[in-house]
Amino acid sequence: MFIESFKVESPNVKYTENEIHSVYDYETTEVVHENVNGAYQWIVKPKVVKYDFKTDTRVPKLGVMLVGWGGNNGSTLTAGVIANKEGISWATKDKVQQANYFGSLTQASSIRVGSFNGEEIYAPFKSLVPMVNPDDVVFGGWDIKTASYIVPLPGIFDPDFIAANQGSRANNVIKGTKKEQVNQIIKDMREFKEKNKVDKVVVLWTANTERYSNVIVGLNDTMENLMNSVDRDESEISPSTLYAIACVLEGIPFINGSPQNTFVPGLIDLAIKNNVLIGGDDFKSGQTKMKSVLVDFLVGAGIKPTSIVSYNHLGNNDGMNLSAPQTFRSKEISKSNVVDDMVASNGILFEPGEHPDHVVVIKYVPYVADSKRAMDEYTSEIFMGGKNTIVMHNTCEDSLLAAPIILDLVLLAELSTRIQFKSEKEGKFHSFHPVATILSYLTKAPLVPPGTPVVNALSKQRAMLENILRACVGLAPENNMILEYK
Ligand code: NAD
Repeated sequence: MFIESFKVESPNVKYTENEIHSVYDYETTEVVHENVNGAYQWIVKPKVVKYDFKTDTRVPKLGVMLVGWGGNNGSTLTAGVIANKEGISWATKDKVQQANYFGSLTQASSIRVGSFNGEEIYAPFKSLVPMVNPDDVVFGGWDIKTASYIVPLPGIFDPDFIAANQGSRANNVIKGTKKEQVNQIIKDMREFKEKNKVDKVVVLWTANTERYSNVIVGLNDTMENLMNSVDRDESEISPSTLYAIACVLEGIPFINGSPQNTFVPGLIDLAIKNNVLIGGDDFKSGQTKMKSVLVDFLVGAGIKPTSIVSYNHLGNNDGMNLSAPQTFRSKEISKSNVVDDMVASNGILFEPGEHPDHVVVIKYVPYVADSKRAMDEYTSEIFMGGKNTIVMHNTCEDSLLAAPIILDLVLLAELSTRIQFKSEKEGKFHSFHPVATILSYLTKAPLVPPGTPVVNALSKQRAMLENILRACVGLAPENNMILEYK
Protein backbone atom coordinates (compact mmCIF):
# COMPACT_ATOMS: atom_id res chain seq x y z
CA MET A 1 0.00 0.00 0.00
CA PHE A 2 1.20 3.50 -0.76
CA ILE A 3 0.55 6.41 1.62
CA GLU A 4 1.32 10.05 0.87
CA SER A 5 2.59 11.17 4.27
CA PHE A 6 3.05 10.09 7.89
CA LYS A 7 4.09 11.40 11.29
CA VAL A 8 6.34 9.57 13.73
CA GLU A 9 5.06 9.13 17.29
CA SER A 10 7.88 8.33 19.68
CA PRO A 11 9.16 9.56 23.05
CA ASN A 12 12.43 10.28 21.20
CA VAL A 13 10.90 12.58 18.61
CA LYS A 14 9.42 16.03 19.07
CA TYR A 15 7.75 18.02 16.32
CA THR A 16 7.74 21.74 17.23
CA GLU A 17 6.54 24.64 15.12
CA ASN A 18 9.86 25.03 13.29
CA GLU A 19 11.77 21.87 14.09
CA ILE A 20 11.83 18.11 14.26
CA HIS A 21 14.06 17.04 17.13
CA SER A 22 15.07 13.41 17.39
CA VAL A 23 17.22 11.57 19.91
CA TYR A 24 18.79 8.67 18.12
CA ASP A 25 20.73 5.56 19.09
CA TYR A 26 23.38 5.01 16.43
CA GLU A 27 24.28 1.34 16.58
CA THR A 28 27.69 0.69 15.14
CA THR A 29 30.86 -1.29 15.79
CA GLU A 30 34.32 -0.56 17.00
CA VAL A 31 37.05 -2.68 15.44
CA VAL A 32 40.32 -3.08 17.30
CA HIS A 33 43.49 -5.11 16.76
CA GLU A 34 44.43 -6.24 20.22
CA ASN A 35 47.04 -8.41 21.86
CA VAL A 36 45.06 -11.19 23.54
CA ASN A 37 47.28 -13.60 25.54
CA GLY A 38 50.32 -12.84 23.39
CA ALA A 39 48.60 -13.04 20.00
CA TYR A 40 47.09 -10.21 18.00
CA GLN A 41 43.41 -10.62 17.22
CA TRP A 42 40.74 -8.58 15.52
CA ILE A 43 38.03 -7.75 18.01
CA VAL A 44 34.70 -6.29 16.97
CA LYS A 45 32.74 -4.55 19.69
CA PRO A 46 29.16 -3.40 19.13
CA LYS A 47 28.60 0.11 20.41
CA VAL A 48 25.75 2.53 20.68
CA VAL A 49 26.32 6.27 20.36
CA LYS A 50 23.54 8.69 21.20
CA TYR A 51 22.92 11.43 18.66
CA ASP A 52 20.60 14.42 18.64
CA PHE A 53 19.26 15.60 15.30
CA LYS A 54 17.32 18.77 14.68
CA THR A 55 15.81 19.56 11.33
CA ASP A 56 14.53 23.02 10.54
CA THR A 57 11.15 22.42 8.92
CA ARG A 58 10.82 25.91 7.44
CA VAL A 59 11.17 25.20 3.75
CA PRO A 60 12.76 28.19 2.02
CA LYS A 61 11.98 29.69 -1.35
CA LEU A 62 14.91 28.26 -3.30
CA GLY A 63 16.81 29.76 -6.20
CA VAL A 64 19.03 27.50 -8.29
CA MET A 65 21.71 29.00 -10.49
CA LEU A 66 23.20 26.69 -13.07
CA VAL A 67 26.59 27.21 -14.65
CA GLY A 68 25.97 26.12 -18.24
CA TRP A 69 22.26 26.97 -17.95
CA GLY A 70 21.77 27.14 -21.71
CA GLY A 71 23.19 23.64 -22.34
CA ASN A 72 21.32 20.36 -22.74
CA ASN A 73 21.03 19.58 -19.04
CA GLY A 74 20.29 23.13 -17.92
CA SER A 75 17.60 23.76 -20.50
CA THR A 76 16.06 20.28 -20.13
CA LEU A 77 15.77 20.66 -16.38
CA THR A 78 14.32 24.16 -16.59
CA ALA A 79 11.77 23.13 -19.21
CA GLY A 80 10.93 19.96 -17.27
CA VAL A 81 10.21 21.87 -14.08
CA ILE A 82 8.05 24.42 -15.94
CA ALA A 83 6.14 21.54 -17.57
CA ASN A 84 5.53 19.95 -14.16
CA LYS A 85 4.53 23.23 -12.57
CA GLU A 86 2.11 24.08 -15.38
CA GLY A 87 0.79 20.52 -15.59
CA ILE A 88 1.66 20.38 -19.27
CA SER A 89 0.93 17.26 -21.33
CA TRP A 90 1.67 16.56 -24.98
CA ALA A 91 0.82 13.95 -27.54
CA THR A 92 3.53 11.48 -28.54
CA LYS A 93 3.15 8.69 -31.07
CA ASP A 94 2.38 6.30 -28.18
CA LYS A 95 0.16 8.30 -25.83
CA VAL A 96 -0.58 11.62 -24.20
CA GLN A 97 2.46 12.21 -22.03
CA GLN A 98 2.12 14.00 -18.71
CA ALA A 99 5.04 15.89 -17.24
CA ASN A 100 6.66 13.93 -14.41
CA TYR A 101 9.77 13.70 -12.29
CA PHE A 102 10.73 10.12 -13.17
CA GLY A 103 14.40 9.48 -12.43
CA SER A 104 14.42 11.73 -9.37
CA LEU A 105 15.18 9.92 -6.12
CA THR A 106 13.45 12.56 -4.03
CA GLN A 107 10.39 13.04 -6.26
CA ALA A 108 9.74 9.64 -7.79
CA SER A 109 11.07 6.98 -5.40
CA SER A 110 9.60 5.57 -2.23
CA ILE A 111 10.66 4.23 1.14
CA ARG A 112 9.22 1.46 3.27
CA VAL A 113 7.74 2.76 6.52
CA GLY A 114 6.44 -0.50 7.99
CA SER A 115 3.63 -2.97 7.58
CA PHE A 116 -0.09 -2.77 8.31
CA ASN A 117 -2.35 -5.84 8.48
CA GLY A 118 0.31 -7.92 6.77
CA GLU A 119 0.80 -5.43 3.97
CA GLU A 120 3.98 -3.44 3.31
CA ILE A 121 3.43 0.31 3.58
CA TYR A 122 5.45 2.65 1.37
CA ALA A 123 5.59 6.44 1.26
CA PRO A 124 7.31 8.95 -1.03
CA PHE A 125 11.00 9.47 -0.30
CA LYS A 126 10.25 13.20 -0.03
CA SER A 127 7.77 12.60 2.80
CA LEU A 128 10.57 11.75 5.27
CA VAL A 129 11.41 15.39 6.05
CA PRO A 130 10.04 18.64 4.61
CA MET A 131 11.76 19.43 1.33
CA VAL A 132 11.52 22.17 -1.27
CA ASN A 133 8.91 21.40 -3.92
CA PRO A 134 10.76 21.49 -7.27
CA ASP A 135 7.80 23.27 -8.87
CA ASP A 136 8.61 26.26 -6.64
CA VAL A 137 12.30 26.54 -7.53
CA VAL A 138 13.38 29.69 -9.37
CA PHE A 139 16.05 28.95 -11.99
CA GLY A 140 18.78 31.20 -13.29
CA GLY A 141 22.44 31.01 -14.17
CA TRP A 142 25.28 31.63 -16.55
CA ASP A 143 26.35 30.44 -19.97
CA ILE A 144 29.13 31.47 -22.30
CA LYS A 145 26.62 31.20 -25.16
CA THR A 146 23.37 33.12 -25.59
CA ALA A 147 21.65 30.28 -27.37
CA SER A 148 18.28 30.14 -25.77
CA TYR A 149 15.06 32.10 -25.49
CA ILE A 150 15.90 32.69 -21.81
CA VAL A 151 19.25 34.45 -22.03
CA PRO A 152 21.72 33.34 -19.35
CA LEU A 153 24.10 35.70 -17.59
CA PRO A 154 27.56 35.97 -19.18
CA GLY A 155 29.91 33.20 -17.97
CA ILE A 156 33.61 32.93 -17.17
CA PHE A 157 35.33 31.55 -20.25
CA ASP A 158 38.87 30.24 -20.51
CA PRO A 159 39.64 28.36 -23.75
CA ASP A 160 42.59 26.66 -22.10
CA PHE A 161 40.25 24.55 -19.93
CA ILE A 162 37.70 23.22 -22.41
CA ALA A 163 38.07 21.73 -25.87
CA ALA A 164 39.11 24.04 -28.70
CA ASN A 165 35.91 23.03 -30.54
CA GLN A 166 33.92 25.03 -27.96
CA GLY A 167 35.58 28.36 -28.80
CA SER A 168 33.00 29.39 -31.40
CA ARG A 169 30.18 29.14 -28.79
CA ALA A 170 31.65 31.79 -26.53
CA ASN A 171 29.64 34.95 -27.26
CA ASN A 172 28.54 35.76 -23.72
CA VAL A 173 31.57 36.09 -21.47
CA ILE A 174 32.67 38.06 -18.43
CA LYS A 175 35.70 40.19 -19.23
CA GLY A 176 38.43 41.18 -16.82
CA THR A 177 40.86 39.60 -14.41
CA LYS A 178 40.06 36.47 -12.39
CA LYS A 179 39.44 38.58 -9.34
CA GLU A 180 37.02 40.77 -11.30
CA GLN A 181 35.30 37.64 -12.65
CA VAL A 182 34.81 36.26 -9.13
CA ASN A 183 33.40 39.61 -8.04
CA GLN A 184 31.00 39.63 -10.99
CA ILE A 185 29.70 36.15 -10.06
CA ILE A 186 29.16 37.34 -6.49
CA LYS A 187 27.27 40.38 -7.80
CA ASP A 188 25.16 38.16 -10.09
CA MET A 189 24.17 35.90 -7.19
CA ARG A 190 23.22 38.82 -4.96
CA GLU A 191 21.13 40.39 -7.72
CA PHE A 192 19.44 37.08 -8.54
CA LYS A 193 18.54 36.58 -4.89
CA GLU A 194 17.22 40.09 -4.56
CA LYS A 195 15.30 40.15 -7.84
CA ASN A 196 13.59 36.79 -7.30
CA LYS A 197 13.07 37.23 -3.58
CA VAL A 198 14.51 33.81 -2.81
CA ASP A 199 15.66 32.87 0.70
CA LYS A 200 18.48 30.59 -0.38
CA VAL A 201 20.52 29.91 -3.50
CA VAL A 202 22.33 26.74 -4.58
CA VAL A 203 24.76 26.82 -7.52
CA LEU A 204 25.50 23.77 -9.66
CA TRP A 205 28.05 23.34 -12.45
CA THR A 206 26.52 21.64 -15.47
CA ALA A 207 28.80 23.39 -17.94
CA ASN A 208 31.25 21.57 -20.13
CA THR A 209 33.88 19.28 -18.73
CA GLU A 210 37.14 21.07 -18.17
CA ARG A 211 40.59 19.57 -18.25
CA TYR A 212 42.18 18.82 -14.88
CA SER A 213 43.89 21.75 -13.20
CA ASN A 214 47.45 21.12 -12.11
CA VAL A 215 47.66 21.05 -8.36
CA ILE A 216 50.79 22.99 -7.48
CA VAL A 217 52.29 23.80 -4.11
CA GLY A 218 52.04 27.54 -3.58
CA LEU A 219 49.38 27.96 -6.26
CA ASN A 220 46.17 26.19 -5.25
CA ASP A 221 47.12 23.86 -2.40
CA THR A 222 45.81 25.97 0.47
CA MET A 223 43.09 28.55 0.91
CA GLU A 224 45.61 31.40 1.22
CA ASN A 225 47.60 30.30 -1.83
CA LEU A 226 44.47 29.90 -3.92
CA MET A 227 43.12 33.33 -3.01
CA ASN A 228 46.53 34.93 -3.65
CA SER A 229 46.67 33.16 -7.02
CA VAL A 230 43.31 34.68 -7.94
CA ASP A 231 44.64 38.11 -6.97
CA ARG A 232 47.70 37.49 -9.16
CA ASP A 233 45.46 36.34 -12.06
CA GLU A 234 47.30 33.00 -12.28
CA SER A 235 46.39 31.12 -15.45
CA GLU A 236 46.04 27.69 -13.83
CA ILE A 237 42.89 28.60 -11.86
CA SER A 238 39.97 27.16 -13.84
CA PRO A 239 36.62 28.87 -14.46
CA SER A 240 34.83 26.22 -12.39
CA THR A 241 37.11 26.90 -9.43
CA LEU A 242 36.42 30.63 -9.79
CA TYR A 243 32.64 30.08 -9.63
CA ALA A 244 33.15 27.82 -6.62
CA ILE A 245 35.28 30.44 -4.85
CA ALA A 246 32.57 33.06 -5.40
CA CYS A 247 29.96 30.70 -3.93
CA VAL A 248 32.00 29.78 -0.87
CA LEU A 249 32.73 33.45 -0.18
CA GLU A 250 28.98 34.12 -0.35
CA GLY A 251 28.05 31.11 1.82
CA ILE A 252 26.25 29.50 -1.14
CA PRO A 253 26.43 25.70 -1.66
CA PHE A 254 28.27 24.71 -4.86
CA ILE A 255 27.91 21.34 -6.59
CA ASN A 256 30.09 20.13 -9.43
CA GLY A 257 28.27 17.93 -11.95
CA SER A 258 31.27 17.42 -14.23
CA PRO A 259 34.37 15.33 -13.67
CA GLN A 260 37.15 17.94 -13.48
CA ASN A 261 38.97 18.72 -10.23
CA THR A 262 37.20 22.01 -9.53
CA PHE A 263 37.76 21.23 -5.86
CA VAL A 264 41.52 21.66 -5.74
CA PRO A 265 42.90 21.34 -2.19
CA GLY A 266 42.85 25.12 -1.70
CA LEU A 267 39.16 25.25 -2.54
CA ILE A 268 38.33 22.39 -0.15
CA ASP A 269 40.31 24.24 2.50
CA LEU A 270 38.35 27.43 1.76
CA ALA A 271 35.00 25.59 1.99
CA ILE A 272 35.94 23.91 5.26
CA LYS A 273 37.15 27.15 6.85
CA ASN A 274 33.98 28.98 5.75
CA ASN A 275 31.75 25.97 6.54
CA VAL A 276 30.04 26.10 3.15
CA LEU A 277 28.71 22.99 1.44
CA ILE A 278 30.56 21.70 -1.61
CA GLY A 279 29.59 18.49 -3.39
CA GLY A 280 30.53 16.50 -6.47
CA ASP A 281 31.93 15.26 -8.75
CA ASP A 282 30.19 14.31 -12.01
CA PHE A 283 26.55 13.21 -12.18
CA LYS A 284 26.13 9.46 -11.78
CA SER A 285 23.54 9.02 -14.48
CA GLY A 286 23.88 5.98 -16.75
CA GLN A 287 26.78 3.65 -17.35
CA THR A 288 28.51 4.32 -14.05
CA LYS A 289 25.28 3.95 -12.10
CA MET A 290 24.79 0.55 -13.70
CA LYS A 291 28.41 -0.35 -12.95
CA SER A 292 28.04 0.54 -9.29
CA VAL A 293 25.06 -1.82 -9.15
CA LEU A 294 26.39 -4.68 -11.24
CA VAL A 295 29.87 -4.93 -9.71
CA ASP A 296 28.32 -4.69 -6.25
CA PHE A 297 26.07 -7.61 -7.18
CA LEU A 298 28.94 -9.68 -8.64
CA VAL A 299 31.37 -9.13 -5.77
CA GLY A 300 28.54 -9.50 -3.25
CA ALA A 301 27.62 -12.83 -4.84
CA GLY A 302 31.19 -14.09 -4.55
CA ILE A 303 31.83 -13.75 -8.29
CA LYS A 304 35.12 -12.21 -9.41
CA PRO A 305 34.87 -9.50 -12.10
CA THR A 306 38.16 -9.61 -14.01
CA SER A 307 37.56 -7.32 -16.99
CA ILE A 308 35.20 -4.38 -17.35
CA VAL A 309 35.19 -2.61 -20.69
CA SER A 310 32.88 0.36 -21.31
CA TYR A 311 32.30 2.05 -24.63
CA ASN A 312 30.20 5.18 -25.07
CA HIS A 313 29.27 7.13 -28.10
CA LEU A 314 27.23 10.29 -28.14
CA GLY A 315 26.67 13.19 -30.47
CA ASN A 316 25.72 16.16 -28.33
CA ASN A 317 27.91 19.12 -27.43
CA ASP A 318 29.14 17.32 -24.31
CA GLY A 319 30.36 14.52 -26.59
CA MET A 320 32.07 17.00 -28.89
CA ASN A 321 33.83 18.63 -25.95
CA LEU A 322 34.91 15.22 -24.63
CA SER A 323 36.48 14.36 -27.99
CA ALA A 324 39.53 16.42 -26.96
CA PRO A 325 42.09 14.26 -25.10
CA GLN A 326 42.49 16.58 -22.12
CA THR A 327 38.75 16.78 -21.30
CA PHE A 328 38.27 13.08 -22.03
CA ARG A 329 41.00 12.41 -19.48
CA SER A 330 38.89 14.10 -16.76
CA LYS A 331 35.96 11.82 -17.61
CA GLU A 332 38.20 8.76 -17.73
CA ILE A 333 39.55 9.50 -14.26
CA SER A 334 36.10 10.08 -12.80
CA LYS A 335 34.76 6.84 -14.28
CA SER A 336 37.76 4.76 -13.28
CA ASN A 337 37.61 4.43 -9.49
CA VAL A 338 33.99 3.43 -9.29
CA VAL A 339 34.58 -0.24 -8.49
CA ASP A 340 37.44 0.22 -6.03
CA ASP A 341 35.45 -0.02 -2.80
CA MET A 342 33.61 -3.13 -3.97
CA VAL A 343 36.84 -4.85 -5.04
CA ALA A 344 38.54 -3.94 -1.76
CA SER A 345 35.62 -5.38 0.20
CA ASN A 346 36.29 -8.97 -0.80
CA GLY A 347 39.71 -10.44 0.05
CA ILE A 348 38.55 -13.90 -0.95
CA LEU A 349 38.24 -12.86 -4.59
CA PHE A 350 41.00 -10.26 -4.83
CA GLU A 351 44.56 -10.18 -3.50
CA PRO A 352 45.54 -6.86 -1.87
CA GLY A 353 46.14 -4.34 -4.68
CA GLU A 354 44.59 -6.60 -7.34
CA HIS A 355 42.04 -4.97 -9.65
CA PRO A 356 39.92 -6.02 -12.58
CA ASP A 357 41.08 -4.61 -15.95
CA HIS A 358 38.88 -1.55 -16.40
CA VAL A 359 38.86 0.43 -19.65
CA VAL A 360 36.60 3.32 -20.66
CA VAL A 361 36.25 4.59 -24.25
CA ILE A 362 34.19 7.63 -25.34
CA LYS A 363 33.62 8.56 -29.00
CA TYR A 364 31.85 11.52 -30.56
CA VAL A 365 29.28 10.47 -33.17
CA PRO A 366 27.18 13.53 -34.17
CA TYR A 367 24.31 11.56 -35.73
CA VAL A 368 23.14 9.99 -32.43
CA ALA A 369 22.95 13.48 -30.84
CA ASP A 370 21.70 13.39 -27.21
CA SER A 371 20.73 9.73 -27.54
CA LYS A 372 23.79 8.30 -25.87
CA ARG A 373 24.85 4.71 -26.36
CA ALA A 374 26.70 2.84 -23.64
CA MET A 375 28.01 -0.67 -24.23
CA ASP A 376 29.60 -2.63 -21.46
CA GLU A 377 31.22 -6.02 -21.24
CA TYR A 378 31.78 -7.56 -17.83
CA THR A 379 33.82 -10.76 -17.70
CA SER A 380 34.01 -12.61 -14.40
CA GLU A 381 35.55 -15.75 -13.01
CA ILE A 382 32.96 -18.12 -11.58
CA PHE A 383 33.00 -21.55 -9.93
CA MET A 384 36.02 -23.74 -10.73
CA GLY A 385 37.65 -21.38 -13.20
CA GLY A 386 34.58 -20.93 -15.36
CA LYS A 387 34.07 -17.62 -17.11
CA ASN A 388 30.90 -15.57 -17.28
CA THR A 389 30.48 -12.64 -19.66
CA ILE A 390 27.64 -10.15 -19.37
CA VAL A 391 27.12 -7.63 -22.16
CA MET A 392 24.85 -4.61 -21.89
CA HIS A 393 23.65 -2.11 -24.41
CA ASN A 394 22.01 1.02 -23.10
CA THR A 395 20.46 3.77 -25.21
CA CYS A 396 19.09 6.84 -23.52
CA GLU A 397 18.69 10.58 -23.86
CA ASP A 398 21.58 11.76 -21.74
CA SER A 399 20.03 14.97 -20.47
CA LEU A 400 16.80 13.21 -19.43
CA LEU A 401 18.92 11.10 -17.10
CA ALA A 402 20.91 14.05 -15.79
CA ALA A 403 18.09 16.57 -15.22
CA PRO A 404 16.34 14.73 -12.34
CA ILE A 405 19.74 14.09 -10.76
CA ILE A 406 20.48 17.81 -10.82
CA LEU A 407 17.16 18.38 -9.12
CA ASP A 408 17.95 15.85 -6.40
CA LEU A 409 21.39 17.35 -5.87
CA VAL A 410 20.09 20.87 -5.30
CA LEU A 411 17.11 19.79 -3.19
CA LEU A 412 19.22 17.53 -0.98
CA ALA A 413 21.99 20.13 -0.70
CA GLU A 414 19.41 22.64 0.49
CA LEU A 415 17.88 20.13 2.90
CA SER A 416 21.22 19.18 4.37
CA THR A 417 21.86 22.83 5.32
CA ARG A 418 18.73 22.65 7.52
CA ILE A 419 19.93 19.61 9.50
CA GLN A 420 22.05 19.96 12.63
CA PHE A 421 23.26 17.19 14.88
CA LYS A 422 25.59 16.31 17.74
CA SER A 423 26.82 13.12 19.29
CA GLU A 424 26.72 12.53 23.05
CA LYS A 425 30.40 13.53 23.18
CA GLU A 426 29.82 16.86 21.49
CA GLY A 427 28.54 19.90 23.35
CA LYS A 428 27.18 21.86 20.43
CA PHE A 429 25.01 21.13 17.42
CA HIS A 430 26.78 21.41 14.08
CA SER A 431 25.94 20.92 10.43
CA PHE A 432 27.25 18.13 8.22
CA HIS A 433 30.88 18.36 7.13
CA PRO A 434 31.06 20.97 4.32
CA VAL A 435 32.21 18.25 1.91
CA ALA A 436 28.79 16.76 1.32
CA THR A 437 29.14 12.96 1.21
CA ILE A 438 25.37 12.79 1.71
CA LEU A 439 25.09 13.54 -2.03
CA SER A 440 27.28 10.62 -3.09
CA TYR A 441 24.38 8.52 -4.48
CA LEU A 442 24.13 11.13 -7.23
CA THR A 443 27.80 11.49 -8.15
CA LYS A 444 30.20 9.35 -10.09
CA ALA A 445 33.33 10.21 -8.12
CA PRO A 446 32.05 11.23 -4.68
CA LEU A 447 34.04 14.00 -3.10
CA VAL A 448 34.76 13.12 0.52
CA PRO A 449 36.56 14.92 3.33
CA PRO A 450 40.25 13.99 3.58
CA GLY A 451 40.64 10.60 5.30
CA THR A 452 37.04 9.45 4.73
CA PRO A 453 36.18 6.18 2.96
CA VAL A 454 34.67 6.56 -0.52
CA VAL A 455 31.55 4.47 -1.06
CA ASN A 456 30.53 3.88 -4.67
CA ALA A 457 28.14 0.91 -4.33
CA LEU A 458 24.76 2.39 -5.24
CA SER A 459 22.66 0.47 -2.73
CA LYS A 460 24.95 1.53 0.13
CA GLN A 461 24.85 5.15 -1.00
CA ARG A 462 21.06 5.10 -1.12
CA ALA A 463 20.82 3.39 2.25
CA MET A 464 23.15 5.99 3.78
CA LEU A 465 21.00 8.85 2.56
CA GLU A 466 17.69 7.24 3.46
CA ASN A 467 18.89 6.13 6.88
CA ILE A 468 20.25 9.57 7.77
CA LEU A 469 16.89 11.13 6.88
CA ARG A 470 15.14 8.38 8.87
CA ALA A 471 17.36 9.27 11.83
CA CYS A 472 16.15 12.86 11.56
CA VAL A 473 12.63 11.65 12.34
CA GLY A 474 13.73 9.00 14.85
CA LEU A 475 13.25 5.94 12.68
CA ALA A 476 15.73 3.05 12.84
CA PRO A 477 17.70 2.23 9.68
CA GLU A 478 15.81 0.05 7.22
CA ASN A 479 17.26 -3.37 8.06
CA ASN A 480 15.04 -5.52 5.84
CA MET A 481 14.87 -8.23 8.52
CA ILE A 482 11.03 -8.33 8.71
CA LEU A 483 11.37 -10.48 11.83
CA GLU A 484 7.66 -10.01 12.58
CA TYR A 485 6.93 -12.55 9.87
CA LYS A 486 9.72 -15.03 10.50
P1 NAD B 1 26.15 20.95 -23.05
O1 NAD B 1 27.40 21.12 -23.85
O2 NAD B 1 24.87 20.78 -23.78
O3 NAD B 1 25.98 22.18 -22.05
C1 NAD B 1 27.03 22.79 -21.39
C2 NAD B 1 26.83 24.29 -21.44
O4 NAD B 1 27.86 24.89 -20.68
C3 NAD B 1 26.93 24.88 -22.83
O5 NAD B 1 25.76 25.62 -23.13
C4 NAD B 1 28.16 25.77 -22.77
O6 NAD B 1 28.03 26.92 -23.59
C5 NAD B 1 28.23 26.10 -21.31
N1 NAD B 1 29.55 26.45 -20.77
C6 NAD B 1 30.76 25.90 -21.04
N2 NAD B 1 31.72 26.46 -20.29
C7 NAD B 1 31.10 27.39 -19.50
C8 NAD B 1 31.55 28.27 -18.49
N3 NAD B 1 32.83 28.31 -18.15
N4 NAD B 1 30.64 29.06 -17.88
C9 NAD B 1 29.32 29.03 -18.23
N5 NAD B 1 28.84 28.19 -19.19
C10 NAD B 1 29.72 27.38 -19.80
O7 NAD B 1 26.45 19.71 -22.09
P2 NAD B 1 25.39 18.84 -21.22
O8 NAD B 1 25.01 17.66 -22.03
O9 NAD B 1 24.35 19.72 -20.69
O10 NAD B 1 26.36 18.32 -20.06
C11 NAD B 1 26.87 19.25 -19.14
C12 NAD B 1 27.95 18.64 -18.28
O11 NAD B 1 27.38 17.60 -17.48
C13 NAD B 1 29.11 18.01 -19.05
O12 NAD B 1 30.33 18.35 -18.47
C14 NAD B 1 28.87 16.56 -18.89
O13 NAD B 1 30.06 15.79 -18.95
C15 NAD B 1 28.27 16.52 -17.51
N6 NAD B 1 27.57 15.26 -17.26
C16 NAD B 1 26.44 14.94 -17.96
C17 NAD B 1 25.80 13.74 -17.73
C18 NAD B 1 24.54 13.37 -18.46
O14 NAD B 1 24.01 12.30 -18.28
N7 NAD B 1 23.98 14.21 -19.26
C19 NAD B 1 26.33 12.85 -16.80
C20 NAD B 1 27.47 13.20 -16.11
C21 NAD B 1 28.07 14.42 -16.34
